[in-house]
Amino acid sequence: MLLLHLDMTKSVMRALYGKSTSLNLSSRKIKVVPTCISRLTNLKILLLNNNSISSLPAELLALQHSLTKLYLYSNRITAVPPDVIRGLQNLVVLNLNHNQIQRLPPEIKSLSRLRHLSVLDNKLEEVPVELGHLTSLTEINLTSNNLSWLPQQLYQCKELTKLHVARNKLTCLPEGIGALAKLQVLDVAGNKLSVFPVEFHLLALGELYYEGNRFVRCEPMASVRDAQVLTLKELAARFVLREDRYRSSRVHMMLPHYPTLTALLADGNCCALCLDPFLATWVECVRFISLKKDMKMRSSKTIPVRALLCSYKCLNTDGHSYYAVATR
Ligand SMILES: [Zn+2]
Repeated sequence: MLLLHLDMTKSVMRALYGKSTSLNLSSRKIKVVPTCISRLTNLKILLLNNNSISSLPAELLALQHSLTKLYLYSNRITAVPPDVIRGLQNLVVLNLNHNQIQRLPPEIKSLSRLRHLSVLDNKLEEVPVELGHLTSLTEINLTSNNLSWLPQQLYQCKELTKLHVARNKLTCLPEGIGALAKLQVLDVAGNKLSVFPVEFHLLALGELYYEGNRFVRCEPMASVRDAQVLTLKELAARFVLREDRYRSSRVHMMLPHYPTLTALLADGNCCALCLDPFLATWVECVRFISLKKDMKMRSSKTIPVRALLCSYKCLNTDGHSYYAVATR
């Protein structure tokens, strides 16, 4: 049976050799990619989907200067060898859907021209931070994996228009999502999210899918808060952060000479209400954003978006729409 398929493959390639730039070897029960494929050095598009391949084949390296689209969905791939992925630097489309991949190697950063990455329905437990190097990416599909977190470096992919991470185990989205200014479609349905990250409502999304999460609900309740006592470190940090805002201040001029302190203060944030800075102590709040009114979307529903306030003093001020989050 295998011989029959190899014969067929060889004949297909004899016919194509030097002429065609695409080759369809889908649904041929292929377990091992025939070595003669390496002679097709003009090949741009290769379909190897719906076979029984177990690893990204090293034979692909011979096509590294020409291959731009590679379809390997519906195979039995468990491993993505670093040496092979590193060599496929001209890929624009990589489709690995419906396999059993647990891990993408950091060497994926070599695919600097990649625009579409799809690893739907695999067994990924994490994605490498090096994904942030793929700044040409416009679409990522990581639906139906076992991801419990996403790297913040993902937001370096500023050309991203579609991000699908539905049906994973995400408990939060990293902060800084505002960097994805071109994002049009976000699918986070079927995760364990409780809030959307800070400033989420500033994204100009066209489509948002978020059903099946664990979002906080708006059930106001009375609570008594003890007076807040800030640590000396927090008080000092707030003072320095505040002073640093003034170009003429001594703090602003001296800070560049203290790189450790500068690095520490880089985690500083500012109050959503009074805009005063803080470092490591804040009041965790949400604001319920109307998809229609605030985000110009069709849905009339509201979503909880994370917001940080500097103090209970701010929280207790009248006339704002921030709610402190209670855990039960
Ligand atoms: Zn404040």
